[in-house]
Amino acid sequence: MDNTPKLTLDQIQSFEGKYPPQLWSLFFTEMWERFCFYGMRGVLAIFMVNQLGLTDKESNLKYGAIQAFVYAFTFIGGIFADKVLGFKKSLFFGGITMILGNLLIAFSPQDMFYIGITLSIIGTGFFKPNISSMVGDLYRDGDSRRDAGFGLFYSGINIGAFLGGALCVWLGKYYSWSYAFLAAAIVMIIGVTTFLFTQKNLGPIGDSPLMHLDKSSRLRKEALVYLGSVISIPLIYIMIRNTDYTDYFMYTVGPLAVIYFLYELAKVTGKPAKNKLIAAFIFIVFSVIFWAFFEQSGGSLSLFAEKNLDFNLLGMTIDPNVVNNTSNAFFVIIFSPLLGLLWIWMAGRRIEPNTVVKFGLGFLFLAAAFYVFYATRFFADEKGITSLNVFTLAYLIITFGELCLSPIGLSIITKLSPKKMGGMMMGMWFLASAYGQYVAGLLGAGMSTPDESASLTEKLNLYTDGYYQLAIYALIAGILLLAISPLVRKLMHEVK
Ligand code: GLN
Repeated sequence: MDNTPKLTLDQIQSFEGKYPPQLWSLFFTEMWERFCFYGMRGVLAIFMVNQLGLTDKESNLKYGAIQAFVYAFTFIGGIFADKVLGFKKSLFFGGITMILGNLLIAFSPQDMFYIGITLSIIGTGFFKPNISSMVGDLYRDGDSRRDAGFGLFYSGINIGAFLGGALCVWLGKYYSWSYAFLAAAIVMIIGVTTFLFTQKNLGPIGDSPLMHLDKSSRLRKEALVYLGSVISIPLIYIMIRNTDYTDYFMYTVGPLAVIYFLYELAKVTGKPAKNKLIAAFIFIVFSVIFWAFFEQSGGSLSLFAEKNLDFNLLGMTIDPNVVNNTSNAFFVIIFSPLLGLLWIWMAGRRIEPNTVVKFGLGFLFLAAAFYVFYATRFFADEKGITSLNVFTLAYLIITFGELCLSPIGLSIITKLSPKKMGGMMMGMWFLASAYGQYVAGLLGAGMSTPDESASLTEKLNLYTDGYYQLAIYALIAGILLLAISPLVRKLMHEVK
């Protein structure tokens, strides 16, 4: 029995130095979870084409649908964490569910695929938003070290994504799909164990919001959440099997989320608090567009990499799918701390761009990256095989866009949301990713040809035409965001 007194919130938030010590346990827990998630994600599109016999087009659609569900459930996971479970229990429940999902697929990849993915969807929903919210809770309002904390946490995310993307694709493609999913399950066990052993250092952060109730009624409410999750299994299963249902789900869940947001917004007292939530909402809306383009990486870019790229990266021989799944994470790991230093340097000279301008820059980088994906067509040989080097350059550029938007977005959501709505708003931030993923699948399907006998050159032209369009739309979004930045700044009040 551990008798050391529980840390208070004040003790945790009065940490000295750059990072709160608790950040490290959240860093490692999330790192393993992302390993599991990106391991699963990395093999998804290829697995469905090679093992389940889907066409490129079906695979793109289903990929988008699965990713959309994963992120849509973060909204639900966030709400139940705020209202019933608290972040800690949500995380634990989500982690166990993800482990089960991956173990099932490892046991029999073809037969258990959809049921295992269903469990991964529910599990990620309870896990993903709540760990980020806990990072935010380590900081007091106005603590200027928060962005740096999220920058570091984002590196952890990407170390996991990098290792998972590389290892699981390699295991799946060259050894066995069972090993790929088994590896994902094993690392998730490590993640959940890390959290179990370190969670006491989080003091009251992430405790149940129902501590004031007696134990039995609290447990009854918790049991209802678990039961609801079990009941949702067949529903999600049906919806991912048939992508038509995904459409209905997506048409419904977004409007419902917005209505729920408006309902909660109406209950918030004080104009500044309301304005901040509206500003958060604007960031969320723009992030939908960003992720819709960015997430071509798991769908169309993954298929493009499989068919249209050579194996030469700066003189080394390397599988283009491994590059597709890992280069972004690799660049984030290197450049996230460097960009953090640049922001600090700029802040010292009072020239650090505010969050809205950083978001705008994110879109400009996104536009440049898609222009380079488009430009790969100019490096193609007569068979339609093009340069992995140019492709990787585009990933470098898109990564700068992501770093201007994604870690900054996590941080700004925790700054702009009132405590009681923290989980829900973080869930909403990721719900935007759900729509991004969903639209990404549609865009990817629009770029791929249903004609399986199309030549590689025809495929190359179709995909790169699509990337050209995306470059233009990203540019427009970036300019629009920069144009409305003074208005959004006003809504944010003192938050930067
Ligand atoms: N790459 C980041 C992560 O996995 C962001 C994902 C997203 O919001 N779509 O956490």
